[in-house]
Amino acid sequence: MHYCKSLIVTMSKTEYDAIVVGSGPNGLAAAITLQKSGLHVLLVEGKSTIGGGLRTAELTLPGFKHDICSAIHPMAVASPFFNSLPLEEHSLEYIQPPIALAHPYDNGTSAILTHSIEETASLLGIDKENYLSLIGPIKKNFHSLIPEILGPLHIPKRPIELAQFGLNALQPATWISKRFRTSVAKGLWAGMAAHSILPLNKLTTSAIGLVLLAAGHSRGWPIPKGGSQQIANALASYFTSLGGKIETSFNVESLAQLPSSKAVLFDITPRQLPDIVFPPSTNGNSKNTATGWEFSR
Ligand SMILES: Cc1cc2nc3c(=O)[nH]c(=O)nc-3n(C[C@H](O)[C@H](O)[C@H](O)COP(=O)(O)OP(=O)(O)OC[C@H]3O[C@@H](n4cnc5c(N)ncnc54)[C@H](O)[C@@H]3O)c2cc1C
Repeated sequence: MHYCKSLIVTMSKTEYDAIVVGSGPNGLAAAITLQKSGLHVLLVEGKSTIGGGLRTAELTLPGFKHDICSAIHPMAVASPFFNSLPLEEHSLEYIQPPIALAHPYDNGTSAILTHSIEETASLLGIDKENYLSLIGPIKKNFHSLIPEILGPLHIPKRPIELAQFGLNALQPATWISKRFRTSVAKGLWAGMAAHSILPLNKLTTSAIGLVLLAAGHSRGWPIPKGGSQQIANALASYFTSLGGKIETSFNVESLAQLPSSKAVLFDITPRQLPDIVFPPSTNGNSKNTATGWEFSR
């Protein structure tokens, strides 16, 4: 009887509490959060190296490291979650350039973003006050706004500041651009808003421009020493120090490939998910018809 009971327990025991698929910054953050709360977590990554958009590699000559995707990380240093982790102890170090960025123009002028909002604004000529009135309040409230903006949906703790930010953030970037009269200011604004990766006449395209400009003035324009990969490496090092396990070169095509676990979290493109959860062979179709999802921008 005792033997049977043990057998049942052994058979029903899962190998992991949770498996996270995809080792981009969000997958690493999820894996750390779960592991920190005492769960046993496996992180799997399809590529041979971890990091997703945080990868750095020698793409040209040996010893010359290039960021393959992301390079500059004001949001990483602003992130309340990242700030809660001992990433410096896992070799993460940031370099702050004196000038965050410059947009050169054909006529020899350029828009420059520096840590100082006053200096940046004063380089915009007649748009100085327009810039200060747009970005100044967000920079002033940046510390309290960031948890509201970056966190999961919740009842805001700072509803007035959030509403003030939202009134501008919801607008298409082309509307905000009309507040500026100089091409220098318009170029600086357009470059920031273009991080939305949407046509600038779409609603909400101002949000990322406002956040990045305020972040530049509040947190600078940090580059991880050694490349963006260092953020992924530090997160992974912390995760494994907590007892988490990472497997690379493990491209997940179906749930059946994964070890047993109580939960699986995906940090991948949604387009892949239906085929992984409902592989074509399980529903008899060569093409997955398990969902009626529509993908749009
Ligand atoms: C060109 C470009 C430049 C950018 N520059 C910046 C920047 O300078 N600063 C900044 O803060 N942000 C930047 N970003 C945005 C940033 O890269 C993303 O916000 C971030 O990488 C998203 O992280 P994620 O964890 O959600 O996904 P990802 O980083 O995309 O990670 C997903 C991971 O899942 C893995 N994966 C996918 N499918 C599977 C599967 N089936 N099985 C196993 N593994 C799988 C992938 O290989 C990948 O490693 C940039 C983005 C782009 C496109």
